[in-house]
Amino acid sequence: MFDVIIVGAGPTGLMLAGELRLHDVRVLVLEKDAEPTVIVRSLGLHVRSIEVMDQRGLLERFLAHGRTYPLGGHFAGIDKPRPDRLDTAHPYILGIPQPVTDRLLAERATELGAEIRRGCELVGLSQDDHGVTAELADGTRLSSRYLVGCDGGRSTVRRLLGVGFPGEPASNEWLVGEMEVTEDPATVAAVVAEVRTTHRGFGAGPVGDGVYRVVVPAAAVAEDRTVPPTIEELAQRLRVFAGTDFGVRSPRWLSRFGDATRLAERYRVGRVLMAGDAVHVHPPLGGQGLNLGVQDAFNLGWKLAAEIAGWAPEGLLDSYQAERRPVADDVLNITRVQSELMSLEPGPRAVRRLVAELMDIEEVTRRLIEKITAIGIRYDFGEGHELLGRRMRDVVLKRGRLYELMRGGRGLLLDRTGRLSVAGWADRVDHVVDAGEDLDVPAVLLRPDGHVAWAGDDQQELLGALPRWFGAATG
Ligand SMILES: Cc1cc2nc3c(=O)[nH]c(=O)nc-3n(C[C@H](O)[C@H](O)[C@H](O)COP(=O)(O)OP(=O)(O)OC[C@H]3O[C@@H](n4cnc5c(N)ncnc54)[C@H](O)[C@@H]3O)c2cc1C
Repeated sequence: MFDVIIVGAGPTGLMLAGELRLHDVRVLVLEKDAEPTVIVRSLGLHVRSIEVMDQRGLLERFLAHGRTYPLGGHFAGIDKPRPDRLDTAHPYILGIPQPVTDRLLAERATELGAEIRRGCELVGLSQDDHGVTAELADGTRLSSRYLVGCDGGRSTVRRLLGVGFPGEPASNEWLVGEMEVTEDPATVAAVVAEVRTTHRGFGAGPVGDGVYRVVVPAAAVAEDRTVPPTIEELAQRLRVFAGTDFGVRSPRWLSRFGDATRLAERYRVGRVLMAGDAVHVHPPLGGQGLNLGVQDAFNLGWKLAAEIAGWAPEGLLDSYQAERRPVADDVLNITRVQSELMSLEPGPRAVRRLVAELMDIEEVTRRLIEKITAIGIRYDFGEGHELLGRRMRDVVLKRGRLYELMRGGRGLLLDRTGRLSVAGWADRVDHVVDAGEDLDVPAVLLRPDGHVAWAGDDQQELLGALPRWFGAATG
């Protein structure tokens, strides 16, 4: 008997597995593929995910395998200078191929004690008041108290639950892959620059060792996108768009993706929850999908662990959908906006010129960057301090950094006054009396996902906030 079965060893499922293991939850990850994929979908992490990795002590590993790029005022291919004073200690993009992200998250989950079983496809599930039974393709049945579908855009869990996935179907498709080219690099670069003046959804750039990542619009939306294109098909599309196929050969991998945009009607049905692409899909413009899934997992992990440990207050688990679904809705919308702005039709071109002009106003660019990087998210915790519901940037304290204090995934009262107390919740909430020049509130209560649950200096107020997120006092 496991506490939680996670279906899918993509970034969302693996992040969640690690988060649950921080709280000793017995976790099994089921993955249908026998081996990790070599297909490179996501190319990197945005600020909030970088912060999340720092809050769990993982950032060093990610930095060692990635490359940082300065964060610009970049939106839908419009480039402006980065606004001053972005509210983060990590103002950069971390370029890191998705298979590496997946591997690092899998390593962390297994180090913490999660079991990952590959070659195990979920085909059926049932649930009652006590637990969930998962049925695998080979007939094996497994039981757990909860199950989380992190099984991607074509989610079997979502289908088995009968949860609606409304939105727009794919109307465009692109072929993508990594391959060798025989054409010389200067010619490839010149041709790509020329083609991109009339087709923004086209690209070919070196990824090292003479290998190029190529993206080219497909002739039509494929019936079954799980069937990869052939190198001949991709070469033919290159000839249509660029007048040359660059001598592409020896692909490392080939794939296709579309622009379907959909949001699940629900994230939870009883003891079964879903996260990541299983509940939201959108085209990769802006590079937010993986980031969104990892942050879903970061929001869900401690709440599900609290439910299993038995101290979760009423409604805590449902706050997962209440907080994360509006965030996904916003990402879908900002992606729709970017798709429109990339169009070369006269109307969208005119809007693009206007947006580019408006982005000269620093506050406009700042708002757009806060959306793309997810540092602007504010969950609705009701009226209160301006920090309430927001995640806090890392701040330097007298003895270390704030994010270093969050590695165990517990609540945290960061207290400059030295007069406050978390007695009764000390098994769930750390109390650190410290101060730093950047910390301009007397005290903050942070949830395990770094969002501010309370800010102030009044013990009675604090005693009102603690049970809302951390359940009843003990002892
Ligand atoms: C071309 C492209 C570029 C992208 N670039 C970016 C980017 O730059 N930045 C970004 O943030 N995002 C990007 N994305 C999006 C990103 O790849 C996805 O959002 C991300 O992979 C979602 O992670 P996930 O774990 O939710 O789902 P997935 O990565 O799809 O993982 C789901 C896993 O579940 C497994 N599974 C499925 N069904 C079952 C079953 N029945 N039983 C057991 N296992 C099952 C699958 O094999 C898979 O391993 C891009 C996507 C594409 C297509």
